[in-house]
Amino acid sequence: MKKQYKIDLHIHTNVNPHAFSTLEENIRAAAKKGMEIIAITNHGPALPDTPHWWHLRNITILPDYIDGVRVLKGVEANILDENGKLDINQLVYSGMELVLAGFHDVEEYSSNSDKNKNTKAILNLIKSQKADIIVHLGNPNFPVNYEEIVKCAKEFNVALEINNSSLGNHVRTGSNTNCKKMLELAKKEGCYISLGSDSHYSGQIGDFQNIIELLNEVEYSDELIINDSKENLEKFLKLRSELRSEDINS
Ligand SMILES: [Zn+2]
Ligand SMILES: [Zn+2]
Repeated sequence: MKKQYKIDLHIHTNVNPHAFSTLEENIRAAAKKGMEIIAITNHGPALPDTPHWWHLRNITILPDYIDGVRVLKGVEANILDENGKLDINQLVYSGMELVLAGFHDVEEYSSNSDKNKNTKAILNLIKSQKADIIVHLGNPNFPVNYEEIVKCAKEFNVALEINNSSLGNHVRTGSNTNCKKMLELAKKEGCYISLGSDSHYSGQIGDFQNIIELLNEVEYSDELIINDSKENLEKFLKLRSELRSEDINS
């Protein structure tokens, strides 16, 4: 029987106008689907279609549980330079239970073919301990050295995301080969992996169909998938709360 994951750690609401469901629609859909935990992770302010940072910060007013679903307060921050600098301020950062970060086409750091530069940015970000999960690294528009990144992620206990949307044919086309390569290397090193739907519509929550095929091919250990179970996630979040830098500007 196909495995059902009940935790989704990468979800957008329509405050990013290229996504279509409200927070409440997302939570209702998650509850209906039997999801236990969802993370709301809207884009950081460097992308053009994002809300004022007040919105990102104000997610802290939400209760932990809504309609029986644990709602984790998160953000998907943008990498701005080779030092791994992120586009969120201290107030946003300190309110987050989960910090996702990755490359997007932003003015400060756009698509490029400089593998060394991109790898350096990710390595510096991992070492800075300012992100819990590095998202959609399979993107061919930002080539990286997977060997180096996987080793570093293992050493600093940062999770690498496998993004269900990247494995479809709609966004970040061409990610599949890279994701498989990264996952095989991560298996060898024993890296934490996070599964994210990158939902932009409530119906996509918990959809890991493309990921499951890849996980089965690579035979990844459940122990290392941070959202395989509540226990795994709790353990990972506790570890991250001990490791995560307190100061986004340090
Ligand atoms: Zn993204
Ligand atoms: Zn996203």
